[in-house]
Amino acid sequence: MLKPSEVHITAEPLARFEPVLGEAGWHALQERVAQARAHLTGRTFWNVNSTARGGGVAEMLPRLLAYARGAGVDARWMVLEGTPEFFRVTKRLHHALHGSPGDGSPLGVAERALYDEVLRDNAEELLALVRPGDVVVLHDPQTAGLAPGLVEVGARVVWRCHVGRDTPNAEVERAWAFLAPGLAAAQLTVFSRAAYVPPQCADRAIIIRPSIDIFAVKNQPMAPDVACAILAHTGLLREDSGAPEPLFTRNDGVPARVSRGADIVRLGCAPARDTPLVVQVSRWDPLKDPAGVLSGFAQLVHANPGLRAELVLAGPAVTSVADDPEAASTLNDVIARWFQLPHALRQRVHLACLPMADLEENAAIVNALQRHAAVVVQKSLQEGFGLTVTEAMWKSRPVVASAVGGIQDQVVHGVSGLLVHDPADLTEFAAAVRTLLSDSELADRMGVQAHQHVLAHFTGARHLTDMGRLLEQLDARAEGAVASRH
Ligand code: UDP
Repeated sequence: MLKPSEVHITAEPLARFEPVLGEAGWHALQERVAQARAHLTGRTFWNVNSTARGGGVAEMLPRLLAYARGAGVDARWMVLEGTPEFFRVTKRLHHALHGSPGDGSPLGVAERALYDEVLRDNAEELLALVRPGDVVVLHDPQTAGLAPGLVEVGARVVWRCHVGRDTPNAEVERAWAFLAPGLAAAQLTVFSRAAYVPPQCADRAIIIRPSIDIFAVKNQPMAPDVACAILAHTGLLREDSGAPEPLFTRNDGVPARVSRGADIVRLGCAPARDTPLVVQVSRWDPLKDPAGVLSGFAQLVHANPGLRAELVLAGPAVTSVADDPEAASTLNDVIARWFQLPHALRQRVHLACLPMADLEENAAIVNALQRHAAVVVQKSLQEGFGLTVTEAMWKSRPVVASAVGGIQDQVVHGVSGLLVHDPADLTEFAAAVRTLLSDSELADRMGVQAHQHVLAHFTGARHLTDMGRLLEQLDARAEGAVASRH
């Protein structure tokens, strides 16, 4: 019997936002949160997804729920349990929603039966916990099939989709057809962009853009020396005898030390501290195009023989993300391509699997890597939103990212970073990276604008405000539906 597990959320004080919001903003947030709290009195605000680690949802959700708990809302997080076959099907669905065939396998009756069976098992435990009037937000295709059962027991159910494609194709349609029963049951649906909303949800879709927690370990301030010390400790930079301790502050305020190393595929030494690094941090997923980053970097070096930059492609340890079964094969494909590079180029490319045993330690390493990068790239072929872009922008790093999906809502081309208009165009990619590596004034200016843009649009404060709006709309709809039945 498969059962969802609950991940405990520790409350975070909302007051952390006060200094960054200004007086009017802080008051508006408090007011909105007080309304949401009053709205939810005696009710639980459940959130269900399919992994506690790795990827944007696992990054964003616990932090938002922590602030909701800090504001007095009984916010809880459940992670469903799946089988390898279930996650193979849901990864196929994930690709399809991005318009890609993934492994090309069918999404037919057998897959539907398998999907339903895993969710039926998980629902048993969930339905025993959820009470009428509780709000349940189901995240992504893995959980959509839970909606009908939850509605039946009187819960108010939202399905939130974090992925999508601007121009739907046959694969996207196939995924919507598969998910249709869940979508039909959900009382509201949430998408990251208007272009992602399928026609069957148009009458009950709202747009909420994701956010980062600017106070989390992943995004906390870090002195350059400490970032270097953390990277040296993990094997991503050369050791420096005078370096400080590789320290960071945990989310609960306790100081901690990075103690694990990364698994790194490289030839020769780690980069020196003053070597400009081009960095992409992503799950090992073909749609993040790590192989394309490698080829684009090769093109950059070939066209600019004097350039000193090196490339770091980093992702989570490949067995660590339960709902991402493709990680190992994607990494193996990148390693195979790396082996085919000329020796001199191979020396300048570092493929790193970051330790995931302690998620806050992992976050500190990602923080150090993003802060130390000369340029952060996100060469995705499709991207629901792309929190790695937001994270780099918050750290005032210049970014080069593909003009796909939610990345277009974040980067203003030429102002807060550079967009590559055709994600498959390696020449355009290489030229954009070269521009930022060779014009430090431009890179700095874009970094400053990027930080301001994130502060204005992509923090938890804005996101919590949007969630308050969502709760109001959800209740208005549910009450309207009851009234029209009488
Ligand atoms: N991430 C991480 N460790 C890694 C690789 C990625 O913590 O080794 C995080 C990354 O910092 C970001 C999230 O995973 O917060 C990825 O979110 P994004 O929206 O960029 O992509 P998704 O994985 O959801 O497609």
